[in-house]
Amino acid sequence: LGSSLRGTMDSLRGKSRIDEDDVQEVVKQIQRSLLSADVDVDLVMELSDSIKTRALEEEPPGGTTARDHVLKIVYEEMVDLIGESTEIPLEEQTIMLAGLQGSGKTTTAAKMAWWFSKKGLRPAVIQTDTFRPGAYDQAKQMSENAEVEFYGDPDNDDPVDIAREGLEATADADVRIVDTAGRHALEDDLIEEIEQIDDAVDPDRSLLVLDAAIGQGAKEQARQFEESIGIDGVVITKLDGTAKGGGALTAVNETGSSIAFLGAGETVQDIERFEPNGFISRLLGMGDLKQLSERVERAMEETQEEDDWDPEDMMEGEFTLKDMRNQMKAMDRMGPLDQVLDMIPGMGGGIMDQLPDDAMDVTQERMRSFEIAMDSMTEEELENPAVIKSDRLERIARGSGVPKERIEELLEQHSMMKRTMDQFGNMGDGDMQRMMKK
Ligand code: GDP
Ligand code: MG
Repeated sequence: LGSSLRGTMDSLRGKSRIDEDDVQEVVKQIQRSLLSADVDVDLVMELSDSIKTRALEEEPPGGTTARDHVLKIVYEEMVDLIGESTEIPLEEQTIMLAGLQGSGKTTTAAKMAWWFSKKGLRPAVIQTDTFRPGAYDQAKQMSENAEVEFYGDPDNDDPVDIAREGLEATADADVRIVDTAGRHALEDDLIEEIEQIDDAVDPDRSLLVLDAAIGQGAKEQARQFEESIGIDGVVITKLDGTAKGGGALTAVNETGSSIAFLGAGETVQDIERFEPNGFISRLLGMGDLKQLSERVERAMEETQEEDDWDPEDMMEGEFTLKDMRNQMKAMDRMGPLDQVLDMIPGMGGGIMDQLPDDAMDVTQERMRSFEIAMDSMTEEELENPAVIKSDRLERIARGSGVPKERIEELLEQHSMMKRTMDQFGNMGDGDMQRMMKK
């Protein structure tokens, strides 16, 4: 599905204005991607409306294609919907975790404790789950794995009691993470229990832990937990599976909160702070939109400084060593070429697969020695590397201190890139050209 969104975006390439049909098509594809990622229908509709309105009303800024303009709007509107990550200050605090059984609370408690310990704070996990057999052992073991303090009491069956005692026992810790029990479904006794723990603990923030596979069930859960204890943020777990976690957006919307952490694995290190860009790219099944636009912008700014180099020539005429040197410099600014191409929606896999594997394999170290060797070449040699025969090779090697074999590699690399650039040239007015030119 992501690929059809890519396809649609690609069909906008070269257009400077976008008409109503184009917008409809883009919005339709986005709707498909989001619905298949479990994003709530109402949210998808809301988002579609704002994207439609903006795409048709706003003029693309000068020099921006319709496609880039629409991508930017989509990205901005999604950031708007999803929000920035929940603020988690690195200071003394008590955090309570809530959620249904199996959502990943206990795992998340240990993961978060590990995360805080890496930030230089002293965390402790307090296990109050007396409902699930083995909950104590599981939490204790995971806390050991995370090398953090743990409190639990397998002989006590009163979770509120355990919570109170746990706070006292871990008074020296900076961050107390209170793990709670869940049930298979929301039941009155669960709500009552967590309300009582909430009263006893008086947490600085309460996080709702949701399995990425949660679909429409997220709404009711989020509403209930919000009503009973108040939710300040959401943790989405099991993102290492196939589920994209779109259902969690419903919970974010319902609780008026944001996403705090993402869990993607069973070990304590498999946690990261939420970051909108990666999550959005994943939901849409597209490349890294934010990074793409930032890199393109940076490349555009800096390439303007290269007054004696017109990438148009490179695309159309002979690909010379000079072009190669300029291209290596451009790559240095933007990152490896294959990564740059991967980030352009619609240009990832397909094109790269058609190239020889090592066509783009210019490592930093090789690149440095290539540049040094080129500094010892004459204008004639740079413009027409075919003239470089053995005597010239000797001279360049002596002058630059770069081994002859390395210079031969450089020449081989050049002819391989030349073939590659010929292929790009054949693609017509492609992204590569636009990127290098502006
Ligand atoms: P709780 O009942 O809410 O405390 O959930 P648990 O922390 O016990 O997790 C339930 C199951 O999901 C366990 O088998 C965990 O190992 C697993 N789990 C939790 N988080 C993740 C995750 O991010 N990825 C994967 N693959 N499994 C997870
Ligand atoms: Mg648990």
